[in-house]
Amino acid sequence: MRKPLLAGNWKMNMTIPQAQDLARAILAGFRGDTGREVLLCPPAVCLSPVHRILGQSGIMLGAQTLHHEASGAYTGEVSLEMLRSAGCTHVIIGHSERRAIFGESDSLVARKMRAVLSGRMVPLLCVGETLAERKAGQAEEVVARQVSAACAGVGTSDALVSVIAYEPVWAIGTGETATPEQADDMHAHIRRVLGGLYGEQVADSVRILYGGSVNEKNVDELMKKPNIDGALVGGASLKAESFARIINYK
Ligand code: PEP
Repeated sequence: MRKPLLAGNWKMNMTIPQAQDLARAILAGFRGDTGREVLLCPPAVCLSPVHRILGQSGIMLGAQTLHHEASGAYTGEVSLEMLRSAGCTHVIIGHSERRAIFGESDSLVARKMRAVLSGRMVPLLCVGETLAERKAGQAEEVVARQVSAACAGVGTSDALVSVIAYEPVWAIGTGETATPEQADDMHAHIRRVLGGLYGEQVADSVRILYGGSVNEKNVDELMKKPNIDGALVGGASLKAESFARIINYK
């Protein structure tokens, strides 16, 4: 019922030629399995060039962020229609690096969420607690707050198409992965939060990805868990061989 989604977040890495080479190499390792979805999220300037490489392969293209307004005097920002014209169908929203480094608040994340949904694109909403919050026993409360805040003003049909990525901050880029059990427990908690907001159908239907040091060695174990519907991958998505193994997980 929930089609697995494997997404690569390239962050601020790759020039245009490098990004095209990486996309070509990933494409070569993609078996075209229709039972799972694959998404690449290159830096903004690489979107259109990578889109040309992906063509009709079935691998989808996503942006790493956007500005919630349609157009105007927002120097340096990129709007939803610009992303669509570059070939994007998905947008990552609320990545912990955007929250921590660029000061994105829950309410700004909610505005971006609504902008993506009203433009009929798919938001990939990132949530996750810091190490200090986990140690203080606040992980579930923090994640529930982030999910509820991002869903403010989002109706049931829009919630159904949204994707959530649980990315504990302490596991991002650290090499320290949450155990499959820790991730599955938090995903079950997120389903309970969605159930409270929208009811059981949404709770059972929304795809929840795990992100945080996913690699070719741990992906199979993570993907065995019933509440884990895919992965959002940073570092390992920059290596074609690793990412190809991830998208072809067993
Ligand atoms: C990310 O940035 O979304 C991420 C999960 O990074 P990494 O896989 O490198 O931990």
